[in-house]
Order: sequence, then structure tokens, then C-alpha cells
Amino acid sequence: MGSSSTFRVSAPSTQHTVGLIGATIARSLSPAMQNAAFLYHDLPDRYTLWPVAEADVPAAIAAMRAPGMRGANITIPYKSVVLPLVDVLGADPDVRVLGALNTIVRRVDGTLLGLNTDVDGFLRALDAAGFKPRGARVVLLGAGGAARAVAWGLVQAAIESLALINRSIDRSADLVAMLEQAASPRPRVPVVVLSDDDVGHAIEEATLLVNATPVGADGLQTPIEPAHLHPRLLVCDLIYRSTPLLRAAEARGAATQDGLEMLVQQGGLAFEAWTGLAAPLDVMRRAALEARERLV
Ligand code: NAP
Repeated sequence: MGSSSTFRVSAPSTQHTVGLIGATIARSLSPAMQNAAFLYHDLPDRYTLWPVAEADVPAAIAAMRAPGMRGANITIPYKSVVLPLVDVLGADPDVRVLGALNTIVRRVDGTLLGLNTDVDGFLRALDAAGFKPRGARVVLLGAGGAARAVAWGLVQAAIESLALINRSIDRSADLVAMLEQAASPRPRVPVVVLSDDDVGHAIEEATLLVNATPVGADGLQTPIEPAHLHPRLLVCDLIYRSTPLLRAAEARGAATQDGLEMLVQQGGLAFEAWTGLAAPLDVMRRAALEARERLV
């Protein structure tokens, strides 16, 4: 879509419409997952993919105000761009701290509410894995949007310490600054930025390792040396399927979780915000798993 084009969606008045606004979204599992939830509740809604160029993002968000729209999910690279385009931010501090939202809800008066369900989605996925973050030592790989949501969630969940490693040191520094400002005057949780030489020792001390980089999505690479992995770890890879990291972790006796559970949990929270109904998580998980199988 060029910069002169206008974003249009049509929503029959009997059918509420919701969808995903992002740049490269053709392989998203969200339509299968959300449409299964609408079907479960016997709602006529449809969840649609809305690939949008950056110049069209304001028009796409303005279209959410129309009667018949429930709202949208927002994904990379627009989670921060859309912030000034909504009217109200959710009551929890997540959107303000992260400077990013992933869910927009159209309220009955046509105003738009911005939420971030990634933070709670991640914490609920940890809970589903039986992991209690309080008091845990955590190593986090990455410092992008997903890593920021994970770090903020973990700090709120009162982990003991957070060790970060990222390719670009500037982005690590931004993440530390975000946590410091959110927990001013100092983060209650000690946060260190690791050098490559420190990673092995930090993982040895940790009980949770989270990969929030796309490294491994190609099915070939691991973001860290597999020899550092050990059986006392839960290894979470936010990539939506099994990765070489997760397979190496399993081989070394660690517990593992891929990113599908976080996707389901954040999607369930979005569904509840759009509809006011309980998200049928088992139905959504099954639909996401089936959609993932079809993609292979
Ligand atoms: P992002 O904002 O673009 O951040 C990507 C991060 O990965 C940055 O820290 C980047 O480092 C690092 N990175 C990228 N390529 C790398 C490479 N080749 N080697 C080393 N580091 C590399 O993306 P994001 O939104 O945080 O997403 C990160 C991952 O999480 C993706 O796989 C995404 O699919 C997944 N995710 C999953 C969920 C879920 O619900 N499961 C939700 C959100 C995201 P630099 O800072 O140096 O560029």
C-alpha cells in the first residue's frame, strides 16, 4: 500500500470485526486462534489480517472507530507507532512503561483503548509451565520489544536478579534505563548486562532462560552455546515452535516451553478485552497448534 492509499475495512453491522495490523503477518497463527474462540462463543465475528505500510497506520487505526469494529491486535513494527493514535491507555502501567501496545479495543462510544497483553501473557505462560518467578535468577537473551515486555513482567513478579545479553549494547542500555525509570529511583531487582564471557556463569546460576531473539527461527542456529544448559533450567523460547535451543535444552534435562503458550495467553487476554467473555484457552491453543502444523 502506498502512502497515498487509504486503509479501508468493511464490517457488516451484524458482524463485529477485529484483526491484526502489522507489516509481515501472512504466517500469523492469530486468525485461526481467535476465530476458533469466536466460534466457541457462537459469535459472528471474524478475525482478519490487515497488512499495512507504515504510512497507512494512522488510517488503519482511525478505521477501528467505525461501528462494527471491536478493535485490533498490533504487531511489529507498529507497537510503539500506534501509541499516540489511541484515546486512552489501560489502567495498568504496562503500556506506559513499555511505550508499546499490542491490543486496541473499540469502546461503545467509538473511542479507542490501548492495552499491552504481552506482559501478562508471558507471566501466564510461565504459570502454565508450573514456573514460579518469585526469587528466580533469570537470563534474558534480546532487548527488543518482546524482551522489554518479558523483563518488565519478571521484575514485577519479584525475581531475584535479571541478566541481559543482546547483540547491540545500546538496546540493552535502553532496556535497563526503562526498568530503572519504571522502578525509580533504582530497580528493586538487580539487572546486569552480560558480556559474552559471562553468559555461561550466569546461566549456570539461573533457573530461567528466555530467548527473546529470533535466532533459531531458521531451525539451525542457537543463540547461546548449548553446553551452558543444565537440568535446573526452564528454557522459554518465544519463537512459536520448537527450536535448536529447546531441543538442546531437552537433551540436557531442562524443562522447555516454546512461544505458542505466550501467544495463546496474550490472545486470550485480548479476546476477553474485546468481548467481555472468558477466553476458551484450550480451544484457542488447539486451533493455534493445528494452524502451526499447517504452516510447516
Ligand atoms: P525486535 O523488537 O525486532 O527485537 C529483536 C531482538 O533480537 C533484538 O534484541 C535484536 O538485537 C535481536 N536479534 C535479532 N536478530 C539477531 C541476530 N541475528 N543475532 C542476535 N540477536 C538478534 O523483535 P521482538 O518483537 O522483540 O521479537 C523477538 C522474538 O520474539 C521473535 O522471534 C518474535 O517472533 C518473538 N515474539 C513472540 C511472542 C509470543 O507471543 N510468543 C510475542 C512477541 C515476540 P539488536 O537489538 O541488536 O537488533
